Amino acid sequence: MFPVVTQRRLTTTAEETRALGALLGFYARAGDFVACCGSLGAGKTTFVQGFAEGLGVGADDYVRSPTFALVHAYHGRAPLYHFDFYRLSCSTEVQAIGFDEYFDAGGVMIVEWADKFPQLLPAVRLEVSLRMVAPDRRCVQWMAYGLSYVRYFLHAA
Ligand code: ADP
Ligand code: MG
Repeated sequence: MFPVVTQRRLTTTAEETRALGALLGFYARAGDFVACCGSLGAGKTTFVQGFAEGLGVGADDYVRSPTFALVHAYHGRAPLYHFDFYRLSCSTEVQAIGFDEYFDAGGVMIVEWADKFPQLLPAVRLEVSLRMVAPDRRCVQWMAYGLSYVRYFLHAA
């Protein structure tokens, strides 16, 4: 499946990546699935922090890396389930944390290192890929796989 729409933006500070995350998080709705891809330090967690803010998660509900906990739940206009596949070495470990059950939990799922287990990702999703192009610069590209994610591009001029 090819993305229906893609857009990219260059950020020059972590705050800009966070702000872009907030802009996109504003469009999030229960049932959405967001796959975040990119290497260590690319800015995935920074992006998710902004995304959570855009979804209405309060600043007191601090978004931290789920690298150790594997999943964190936050409460905004809809629940946000934040996963990180970094430490998982096979898809059965992902299933062991109850990943499949979150699809019916009525929230938004966002996954760091989603590209580690592509077979676990829904065909219809928003994909966000972050790439370090210089120490403080990141190329952030987001792609709608499926028409239901085109609303994430409405702000594009
Ligand atoms: P990941 O979750 O992909 O491993 P993090 O978001 O945890 O990445 O870390 C990104 C690091 O890079 C942070 O220390 C952040 O301050 C820094 N950084 C520098 N410039 C940027 C930028 N433009 N966007 C995002 N992070 C940036
Ligand atoms: Mg991270």
